This record gives sequence, C-alpha cells and structure tokens, in this order.
Amino acid sequence: MRITGVRTVVVWGPRRLAYGGSYRTALGASAVSEHAIVFVETDVGLTGIGEASSVFRRRGRLLARDIDAAIAPAVIGEDPTRIRHLAERIEASIDGAEEAKAAVEMALWDITGKHLGVPVYALLGGKVRDRVPLSYSVPFGEPDQMAAFAAERVRAGHRTIKVKIGNAHARDIAAVAAVRAAIGPDVKLRVDANMALPTAKDAIRLVAAIDRYDIELFEQPLAPRALSAMAEVRRGIAPPLMADESIRTPGDAMDVIRHGAADIANVYVSEAGGLLAASKIFTLCEAAGLPCMIGSMPEFGIGTAAQIHLGVAMTNLGPDSDTCGSLYHAEDLLVTPLRIEDGFAYPPEAPGLGVEIDMRVLERWQQAAPGDVS
Ligand SMILES: [Mg+2]
Repeated sequence: MRITGVRTVVVWGPRRLAYGGSYRTALGASAVSEHAIVFVETDVGLTGIGEASSVFRRRGRLLARDIDAAIAPAVIGEDPTRIRHLAERIEASIDGAEEAKAAVEMALWDITGKHLGVPVYALLGGKVRDRVPLSYSVPFGEPDQMAAFAAERVRAGHRTIKVKIGNAHARDIAAVAAVRAAIGPDVKLRVDANMALPTAKDAIRLVAAIDRYDIELFEQPLAPRALSAMAEVRRGIAPPLMADESIRTPGDAMDVIRHGAADIANVYVSEAGGLLAASKIFTLCEAAGLPCMIGSMPEFGIGTAAQIHLGVAMTNLGPDSDTCGSLYHAEDLLVTPLRIEDGFAYPPEAPGLGVEIDMRVLERWQQAAPGDVS
C-alpha cells in the first residue's frame, strides 16, 4: 500500500456561546475554531482522516499550508502503515508546526487501523480502561454566570470542573468561591491560569487565597519556559501543580521533569505532533512518576476521537481529561456523534479512528467567513 495524495480543507466550526458571547479565557476570545482537516489517500482505495487543531497563532490556514508545502511531499509514495518511520520523515520535513504533523500522522493511524480491521487504541497497545473521565472548562464571566455554567455541566454528568483564572486576583477568587458553592463539595474543582500570572509569588498568593475551596490541581500559572519559577510555585502551594503550555513535545516534558516543575502533565495530541509523540510523553512521565491528562484545543470529532483512543490505552492517565472538544462547538462534523455521556468519553469501536465525516457539514464550515478569529 502506498500513499498517493494528501488533501487539506480549512474549516471554521462555530463554538458554543458562553453567557451569550464568545468563549473567553486568559488566551483570548474565540467564536469559531479554525482548524484544518486532512485526507490521506492510498492506492488501495483506503483514505485516512486527520485534524489540525490549535488555539494559538498558527491555525487552520497556516497549518494547511505547512501540510501542503512540507509534510505531504514527505509521505507521498510511502507505506502508510510504517507510522514510526513516517513520523521521523514528518518531523524532519518542517520545524515546529506540531499540529500539522499530528493531523497527517493521525490519518496514518486511521489508515493502518482500517487496513488491519482494528481500532486505533488496539494499535496503541489496547485498552487499559473502557472510557476516559472528563473535565469541563468554565470560561471568564461574572462569578454568578460562571457558577451557573458549572452547575449546568455537573447536571450534564461532569464530575470535574476547571475554572479558567488569570483574569484579576479578586475576580479569580470570587469566581472560584461561586463555582464551589454552586457545584457542592463532591465535584472536583481545578483552576487553569493559562500562563497569565506574572511571577511565582503571584501564583503562590492566589493559590493561598483559593485553596480553602478544595482545589484539585493548579494548572500552568506562568510562561512556558519559566520552569525554575514553576518549580518554586510547586514547592510553595498545597495542591498539585500541572504543566500545560510548558509541554508540547517529549523534549519539553523532559525539561519539566528535570526542573521538577510539575506534579502532573497535560498532554496534547496536536501540540505533541501526533499520537506517537503524545504516547512518548506519557511514557517519560510514567518513568518520572507523573500522571498525565489529555488536553484539548478544542478539537472537532476527528481529533477528539484520536485523543480518546490514546486515553483508553495509556497506563498513567490520571486526572480527568478534556477530551470532549466537540462539546465546545455548536455542532460536530461527524456522521455518527462520539459517545460522550455522563462525564465520560468512549472510543469508537469501528476500525481506525472509527469516525466518518459528514461532508455537508464540512462544506458548510469550509464556506464560513473567518469572522471573529481570535
Ligand atoms: Mg490548560
């Protein structure tokens, strides 16, 4: 079997509104997700699909160009089932652009699973659990709005709520207090500053003020490379510290481990550059005694399916994951929706990623004007 072509389609999928407006965190506001969908075609008629997703500056249009110009030529003519070999070729084809690399690699897993008649989780070593427990993230708003939003997600089955902080010290405290009051004592409450705090002292002071609300974990207070300061925060707070933006690739995970900069790692398929690289991060962390969770960009159903396959196959999956990106959108682009219910995500059981694109939705999203892409 040989790869005969790689096709990219840029789409703008509308996000679900929050409090009647765009979803806002310390990273900014988002009304749509600009992602790129990739189709990898073969000479036997099998087509693999993948998704390039990002909330950072390099989004769908740029990622599609990275794929078309650099990554596609590195895989065309090759055997798609040689994933580890092709991951090296993909890695060497362009600097950075991990989300673009992940999309093409995702399609290789899809083709290989379809070719062998097994789901992707079986290719990753098989299930160590049947489903991935989910967290849901509450965006910036007034504390009473955030509390109502969180309570609604708990009613929908989520047992873990992530409150986005890094807004302003007093507002963050009021938001956490209101959310804890609304969700009761039995739901886990974690906070994510998305790098917004200036110094380790600010981070330690904020956690000291909110820890009475029973904080499950504190996520990424500082800039990605501020690893010594992250280690200082870790020593200065009671809840576990989780690294998110500090870790993209396996090399980043190694740096975080060496600095003692986190207790937990938030791992992304897209940021790592694919399922293989994400699984390497899990393994590095496992060797260092760190549990991992899986983070979201937030993906549509294709990328989300890839994350769920990873989540059921990784031994050291710890805290509840964000593998429900499709729930952050007004609709999804799959023919059959992913099974996400009562706060758990289940892997599709059909061969490969086990998902099929609704081409009518794809075409509609392709036409959507960029609009508020921020
Ligand atoms: Mg985060």
